[in-house]
Amino acid sequence: MAQPNHAERQAKLRTALAGASLDALLVTAMPNVRYLCGFSGSSGMLVVTHDRCVLITDFRYAVQSREQSAHAADVIIEGTSLWARLWTTLAELKVGAIGFESAHVTHADAMRFLEGGARHQWRPAVNLVEVLREQKDASEVAAIRAAVAIAERALERTIAQVRVGMTEMAIGGRLEFELREAGSEAFPFETIVASGERSALPHARCSSRAVKPGDFLLIDYGAVSDGYCSDITRTFSMGSANAEMREVYAVVREANATASGGVRAGMRGKDADALARNYIERRGLGAEFGHSLGHGIGLEVHESPRLSKAADAPLPAQSVVTIEPGVYRDGWGGVRIEDDVLLTTEGPVVLTSFTRELLEL
Ligand code: ZN
Ligand code: ZN
Repeated sequence: MAQPNHAERQAKLRTALAGASLDALLVTAMPNVRYLCGFSGSSGMLVVTHDRCVLITDFRYAVQSREQSAHAADVIIEGTSLWARLWTTLAELKVGAIGFESAHVTHADAMRFLEGGARHQWRPAVNLVEVLREQKDASEVAAIRAAVAIAERALERTIAQVRVGMTEMAIGGRLEFELREAGSEAFPFETIVASGERSALPHARCSSRAVKPGDFLLIDYGAVSDGYCSDITRTFSMGSANAEMREVYAVVREANATASGGVRAGMRGKDADALARNYIERRGLGAEFGHSLGHGIGLEVHESPRLSKAADAPLPAQSVVTIEPGVYRDGWGGVRIEDDVLLTTEGPVVLTSFTRELLEL
């Protein structure tokens, strides 16, 4: 299996640093740290200059940080204060203009920059690493494919156990058990199991509601493999679906197929969003599709690029995005069908393969 090429990622970041007239970037967002040097701990800072890459973390991660990152960074284990060690490191590296990740630092961090790091010129840097992360290399695509396979296996096993009378929480518990059994390292977000009228709430959490015949059962969940997430939604019918359920389901399914088949690298996010939205509007249900079409997935479950009415940026080749149209009818129920799609220069590759037929459980 392909291995992540951290040296190549750091080289791309250095090009971005030069473009922004920065001597260095202080990376504090942990997914960005992991992307650049492989370190998956929960605490640490990375300094990337034009010729050095230094990871500062604490003794809890002494073994792990060297295993994961010695090939990609100089690893410093600090026993007292990461911040104090950062100031001495920056002084040694003779850093002048340094970017900080303005979307990820707290006000308290910013005050530290002004006090402890007063000798450096601190400049807000936005999305320098996030932009690199949009385009997945072979190792990342393989990890996402594995996360999709784990999630789909777990869903197969879960729906075989679903019975009328089970609560959403019990179904969510079975699913999370099956995800672990299938090899998921973690849950990328809180599992959504929403039944009956609650399926009309796009971000419902599992509740104590028991599923009944004639309910929609909407399950939105994912798996994590090698740090990479999948994000999938399927909507089922408890027992046989009535005509209204079939009609709404058919619209969402067609919107999903239209967008998954029509989305292209290079297309603006808003134009991808319109593929599904225009279809749902033509069917008279536009007011019931209130959220955006999708988002990038990777080390985080929601990352750029975005597929929404407001997204002007083109979708990069080798990005992996979700396609998740939905129709939500207040007090009645809702349907969402969410797939994960790799955008290659040759066209979209749908990574999810779980059936999109309306299954009656
Ligand atoms: Zn989802
Ligand atoms: Zn999603």
